[in-house]
Amino acid sequence: MTTSLKGKPAADCVRDGVKSRVDERRQKAGSVPGLAVVLVGRDPASEIYVAKKHKAAVAVGMHSFECRLDANSGTGAVLDVVSQLNRNPDVHGILVQLPLPDGVDSDAVIQHIDAAKDVDGLGRLSQGALVQNRPGLRPCTAVGIIDLLDYYEVPLEGRQAVVVGRSSLVGLPTALLLMHRNATVSVIHSKTPSPARIARTADILVVAAGRPGLVTREWIKPNAVVVDVGIHRTDSGIVGDVLADEAWGHAGAFTPVPGGVGPMTIAELLHNTWMAFQTQVVAG
Ligand code: NAP
Repeated sequence: MTTSLKGKPAADCVRDGVKSRVDERRQKAGSVPGLAVVLVGRDPASEIYVAKKHKAAVAVGMHSFECRLDANSGTGAVLDVVSQLNRNPDVHGILVQLPLPDGVDSDAVIQHIDAAKDVDGLGRLSQGALVQNRPGLRPCTAVGIIDLLDYYEVPLEGRQAVVVGRSSLVGLPTALLLMHRNATVSVIHSKTPSPARIARTADILVVAAGRPGLVTREWIKPNAVVVDVGIHRTDSGIVGDVLADEAWGHAGAFTPVPGGVGPMTIAELLHNTWMAFQTQVVAG
């Protein structure tokens, strides 16, 4: 039997916590957090994500700001928008929807976001705080994976964890967060020889490679907890990086795609926006 680690109940728990704190703050002080999302161009998948983020922010009582630029806007124009948002006291969190179009320097834009408003956790100060296990804003999907495992009471300390992927958005921060929780962590990337052999050592296997169906039964230790982060739209529907048919009945627990990690990412964005607001306004 494989337990399905559905994201919705865990994400609802995070959202409900944020909503009650926002409600309380509105009643006591009349102010609420503001989240700004910057969208450059008209990528259809990005449009969907931005719409979901807007809806989620409004649903917990936050102010939501959308800043749209043409696909042919240069780096300077995007930096100008970020500068305005950095100065805007009603905006406490800034997220630039990735990927940015060719011709826009993504790193320059990300690093230009005020560290206090870096709700995607991708700026150098946020990532440095993560490496050193100091307080700070963490990348949403990575912290969402940890909260999902905690929600289902999956023990982390002393367990063998393997993370497939080392991006600064997902794989690397997830590996660091697992390490800070005293798991013993290995990371597999595109140059790793014999990845299936290493993956098979994992009690907890997190897969964020962006390669549909990469992970087969051969990669999974019987009864392991498998977290599939991948999202791919195919003719037969949305699939992950793990061949789901081979994980069900073999893994001990498995996150469905869709409906596993996905809901956690937006819930953690709201949580980060609350944390940013608290640092700037409540505690400031
Ligand atoms: P990414 O930036 O493309 O990074 C992919 C990582 O996987 C890289 O470190 C790469 O290694 C590694 N990799 C690629 N092919 C591999 C292979 N054959 N064997 C082992 N490692 C391999 O992708 P990402 O942004 O981390 O996203 C990963 C996946 O998660 C995507 O499908 C994305 O859509 C999904 N995602 C989902 C959510 C969600 O909310 N559910 C959020 C974010 C991302 P190198 O470093 O050597 O190139």
